[in-house]
Amino acid sequence: MTTILVVEDNELNREMLTRRLERKGYKVLLATDGHTSIEVARANMPDLILMDMSLPVVDGWEATRRMKADHVLKHIPVIALTAHAMANDRDKALEAGCDDYDTKPIELPRLLGKIENLLHVAAGERIS
Ligand code: MN
Repeated sequence: MTTILVVEDNELNREMLTRRLERKGYKVLLATDGHTSIEVARANMPDLILMDMSLPVVDGWEATRRMKADHVLKHIPVIALTAHAMANDRDKALEAGCDDYDTKPIELPRLLGKIENLLHVAAGERIS
């Protein structure tokens, strides 16, 4: 089963994403801060990570940088989620090592398209 780690400190967003991703057939793991997200990723090796950038303890930018510097975790695709569509957030997210980027409020069809696209890319890399 394809597993997605949702890193989100806002309970309502977390529940909404969990419900809607599970309905699409994904298994969902949760973390509520950047530090825990790294631990959960190491323990479970999810297929993809949805990373809120504004998080307590360690923010999403730093958590992504740490994951992308880790030879085991760096292969897991990360989609950054930011609350504001700042023009430079996309560049910042890609610089931090995120594989894609989306903005809140979440439009699920658009986000699902990005998720599926990255999962296919990752599957292709495993085969080749
Ligand atoms: Mn947040």
